[in-house]
Amino acid sequence: MSSAAEKTYYRASLGLKGEISSQVAADYASGLIQYFRAHGNRLDVPDAKLTFHLAKEFGFCYGVDKAVDMAYEALRKFPDRRIFLLTEIIHNPRVNKRLIDQGIVFLSGQYKHPELKFEDITPQDVVLIPAFGTSAEELEKLKGIGAIIVDTTCGSVVHVWKRVERYAKDGFTSLVHGKYYHEETIATVSMARTHGGHFIVVRNRQQAQVVCDAIEGKRSASEVISTLHADAVSRGFDAEHHLKRIGVANQTTMLASESLEIAAMAGDAIARREGVSSRRDCEFFRSFDTICSATQDRQDAISDLVAEADLDLVLVIGGYNSSNTGHLLAVARRNCPAYHIEDASCLLEEQAISHLPRGKTEPETTKNWLGSGQLNVGLTAGASTPNRAIADTVFRLIELRGLNAADVLPEEALSQAR
Ligand code: SF4
Repeated sequence: MSSAAEKTYYRASLGLKGEISSQVAADYASGLIQYFRAHGNRLDVPDAKLTFHLAKEFGFCYGVDKAVDMAYEALRKFPDRRIFLLTEIIHNPRVNKRLIDQGIVFLSGQYKHPELKFEDITPQDVVLIPAFGTSAEELEKLKGIGAIIVDTTCGSVVHVWKRVERYAKDGFTSLVHGKYYHEETIATVSMARTHGGHFIVVRNRQQAQVVCDAIEGKRSASEVISTLHADAVSRGFDAEHHLKRIGVANQTTMLASESLEIAAMAGDAIARREGVSSRRDCEFFRSFDTICSATQDRQDAISDLVAEADLDLVLVIGGYNSSNTGHLLAVARRNCPAYHIEDASCLLEEQAISHLPRGKTEPETTKNWLGSGQLNVGLTAGASTPNRAIADTVFRLIELRGLNAADVLPEEALSQAR
């Protein structure tokens, strides 16, 4: 087959799942999680005076499963080519470092190669697009280069893009609940831009209120622009024209309850402006909940766990730059102390835990977090966190109680622990 006929764009499995599945399992799976599942998501360790309660939904989502599999398949299919990743494939340090160990070169972000950059990509290279997707402009550039593209963008992200494209084509400005700097949101707003539409990205209710005030004419466009980051508002945004019709969408991993509130705020503001009794009857407002089901399920599961179990604390495990993990923390801490840790190494000692407090960008150390009495410990993990990280956290906690997991875990749990 000539190189001109070679397939250069993969959107799904590269056909090697059977060959990579055992390696993926060896890198990220844990038998201890099977034990939890077989025992009502609970693990009693009486000798350590610990009872663990695992949320019913946690860890790798379908989109992350697909992205990780496709990266491993690319490594298997193209052993002699350079393989680049545009940025982190997902927001988990263990997974990203494991890909680097296997030779994948990152072109941006915290794991960026010191010398190689986007401009160095050649038609002979393989380029992985991460699960969050990439901007329409960058995808076009990649296609122009002619490199082999392995596009792991999650289908739930593509679903948001289609909404935003529709808004743009119908003359609606996209109001996106998200983080303007997050890879997924950067890609999402590019879909509005390339279809001639405008966008505003709001992080929270406070920012949404500023936009709502502008919708009702209580604030000017310059106030909206000065309140938000320059990258959160499309170029040429003009409140007089571009707040007439609003379509709401959201980054898939935001706090679902907040996204719904923001949509209602925007819809009500437009309804008041138009003198319509309900936002549902307003032709100038559209809204689709684009929180993905995996995010919703994990938020619901930790909400249920903290409501039902009498927990002393919750450990939320996941990358510090993982949006959905941060929102699990927000839900968990409503009922009891909760700590967002990246992995087991954050459990420094019995009296010290390194963790990322809600709303902070740098981890902090908290003392006297564990104590020595009987504890009910809740566990959950973000959609990009491997099961192995949960198991390691359990083992470390037992260790902090001065015990060896091998001596105190039920035999059934231990036999499958790795
Ligand atoms: S969190 Fe949702 S949108 Fe993101 S990769 Fe997982 S399933 Fe897809």
